[in-house]
Amino acid sequence: MNERGRFAPSPTGELHLGNARSALLSWLWARKGGGGYAIRIEDIDTPRVRPGMAEQQLAELAWLGLDWDGPPVFQSQRTGLYEDALQKLGDHVYECFCSRAEIAAASAPHGDEGPRYPGTCANLTRAQRAERRRTRSPSLRLRVPPGPLAFHDEIAADQSFDTRQLVGDFVLRRGDGIFAYQLAVVVDDGAMAITQVLRGADLLASTARQILLHRLLGQREPRWAHVPLVIAASGERLSKRDKSLSLSALRKRGVDPRQVVAHLARLSGLAARDACEARELLGGFSLPKLPLRGPTRIDALPY
Ligand code: GLU
Repeated sequence: MNERGRFAPSPTGELHLGNARSALLSWLWARKGGGGYAIRIEDIDTPRVRPGMAEQQLAELAWLGLDWDGPPVFQSQRTGLYEDALQKLGDHVYECFCSRAEIAAASAPHGDEGPRYPGTCANLTRAQRAERRRTRSPSLRLRVPPGPLAFHDEIAADQSFDTRQLVGDFVLRRGDGIFAYQLAVVVDDGAMAITQVLRGADLLASTARQILLHRLLGQREPRWAHVPLVIAASGERLSKRDKSLSLSALRKRGVDPRQVVAHLARLSGLAARDACEARELLGGFSLPKLPLRGPTRIDALPY
């Protein structure tokens, strides 16, 4: 089977150096073996999308020297596929009428992943559902089987997450009709024949949810590689608000993109001079050899 990687930015904020590093490494991983590479714009959460941001992100990826096969895919144009997937999931999906406040009140204190859904609406009768639909449009949730799901990650090694314990039955389509990231990403990775996914380690726990969906949809799951996050000198996560570390700020400042590429390469343990083209890194690239353990701190920019 042909290998195929991808980068899938959300056009809700500017790309920063952490996103750029994931883009570069995912491109190197795919292109090193002569594989395909796709860009997918994850603009499914339309209220959060910033006008013009997708075009800006694409221009910045090209500025970095990355290339991709075919036109970029926009999730907002693919809702029919997500609808079909929901049909296919059939009885694994159920309607939920709970508000956020009700869920927060019914669950134990929670961490980064938000409150765990306690399964309140998992067993409503047909009559109860019909009654509640009169006052609220339901979200759709996946029935998650109990127990841990283990998988291998090419950077983070062996992983195991108990999705039911962590988040419970998770949302596939929100009450406002917007499809959830977890469903869209799995449907698209399947439909786009993606065989390898490299992205930030903030999505490690989500991977167990995505593997579950791949299996229920009868899809072959990709290989996974999660890179540690890039953090600011303060120790804080680079957020899309850290303007000085955004690609657009660097570009506006007239920084040579080859310096950015070399910097990202060195931050990932690849040998690179002060400036280089992305494709010059292909020769020395080997994913298993990258010394990526903890978060990568950016103390000062070398440009
Ligand atoms: N769109 C997601 C993000 O920008 C990434 C999704 C993925 O790579 O699976 O965080």
